[in-house]
Amino acid sequence: MTLLKDSIKAALENRPVRDSPSDELSIHINRIVITSLFDLGTAGEGIIHHAGRYFGSTLVEMGEVHGKTVEAVLAELVAVLNKLKLGNITLVEAEGDSAKVQFEDCYFCKGLPLIDRGVCFYDSGILVGALQKALGREFKVEETKCHCKEDKMCLHEISGI
Ligand SMILES: [Zn+2]
Repeated sequence: MTLLKDSIKAALENRPVRDSPSDELSIHINRIVITSLFDLGTAGEGIIHHAGRYFGSTLVEMGEVHGKTVEAVLAELVAVLNKLKLGNITLVEAEGDSAKVQFEDCYFCKGLPLIDRGVCFYDSGILVGALQKALGREFKVEETKCHCKEDKMCLHEISGI
């Protein structure tokens, strides 16, 4: 079992990990880790996106997501991500190879300073990583709305390539 799979399993089972300090960890540390990679510019964004894709595809490998259509894959994926408390996440639209997934109260970007672009490269990676692994073809994704752009939610728009 890879470290990633074990970490996912532990999170889904809410498995106790350590005694002291407790397992309670501020959401800030996640932001610190991810935003540290922004120092690498677009290369860092690519790494973050790639890591998200690896997480998404691993969820399929682990059988947590196993749908055979875009809608089924994303519905299952959204349920897992909500269980992990990444936000209040909704599959708002799915038709053929196109879909829109919205993150309200995004764990990563809600409350970050406003800039003029989306920053949730990890989340967009999760979505297309799971789709690619489950369905065996590539997808593209664009975060068209983001808390960081003063939007009320993050919106990831997906389409087949
Ligand atoms: Zn965002």
